Amino acid sequence: MREPTTVSLAEIERARRAISGHVRRTVCASSPALSESAGAPVHLKLEHLQITGSFKLRGATNAVLNLTDAQRTRGVVGVSTGNHGRGLAHAARMAGARCVVCMSRLVPRNKIDGIRAVGAEARNVGDSQDDAQLEVDRLVGEDGMTMLPPFDHPDIIAGQGTLGLEILEEVPEVDTIVVPVSGGGLIAGVATAAKAIKPRVRVIGVSMERGAAMYESQKAGHPRPVEERPTLADSLGGGIGGDNRYTFAMVRDLVDDLVLVTEVEIAAAIRHAYWEERQVVEGAGAVGIAALQAGRIARPGETVILLSGGNIDMALHHRIASGEDVDVTRE
Ligand SMILES: *Cc1c(COP(=O)(O)O)cnc(C)c1O
Repeated sequence: MREPTTVSLAEIERARRAISGHVRRTVCASSPALSESAGAPVHLKLEHLQITGSFKLRGATNAVLNLTDAQRTRGVVGVSTGNHGRGLAHAARMAGARCVVCMSRLVPRNKIDGIRAVGAEARNVGDSQDDAQLEVDRLVGEDGMTMLPPFDHPDIIAGQGTLGLEILEEVPEVDTIVVPVSGGGLIAGVATAAKAIKPRVRVIGVSMERGAAMYESQKAGHPRPVEERPTLADSLGGGIGGDNRYTFAMVRDLVDDLVLVTEVEIAAAIRHAYWEERQVVEGAGAVGIAALQAGRIARPGETVILLSGGNIDMALHHRIASGEDVDVTRE
């Protein structure tokens, strides 16, 4: 029998029961400033205030809790040094599981310290992401550890989908949900939950113009690699995997539109979040505000914008908030 290549509402509801008590239920706040300019009520789901600073904790916690006792004893391994690595390390510590995060020697010191601070082993191997992946494969093969990927996994998608359940409870009259997109685990889960509860809700994905792998892949009709380029939305970088099993098809079947925003629009959105909403968000977390402000969301109606993360270098944030014209391609 072939395994299903999608995730059901029942799995998302099960994930919610599993992770409640381990993750925060974040606030959904109305935004007077954005409502005024959009001409319709706009709400912000403040998921950048999640423990570890991003929604990645939801999927990672659900996946770790779904391991068998034997798997938990042998531990989990991942390659991300960003929000997925943090979420995974935190979830593993909660469950008492060993966690190894493999990374290249080029990864900056503060990121390594960030992973170690949450109690995970940070293993420096080789000079590239590929070398890190070889070490992951070795730990899986020789030590029997379980690799948990950042998006293309049913337990991860179900965990992120718990945000869709919360949004529909908090704003039942919602017409449009705006979600940041990289590998598509977040939007696949949110769209599954939201549309199962309210079939006519629209779900719009947003990526940065520079290196939008899911956008390019959907346009081509199959997973496509993209060139990775520096962007303020660094958490949205990377491909969707040539052997993508879940998120490509789920995004194709469930998402109403994918739109792109520029670096200047992302910077303006980080600034808006700070000065008008009093929120510190990272570039990836701000792309929904950017899309609305740039007029890329046609006839939004009552809208919920998901602010997905807040892990931004505070010196960089200070410069952007102060109005400096930051060009990450030059830094
Ligand atoms: C990972 C991440 C995303 C994108 O999630 P996908 O499931 O890969 O689409 C968006 N925002 C932040 C802050 C992230 O860390």
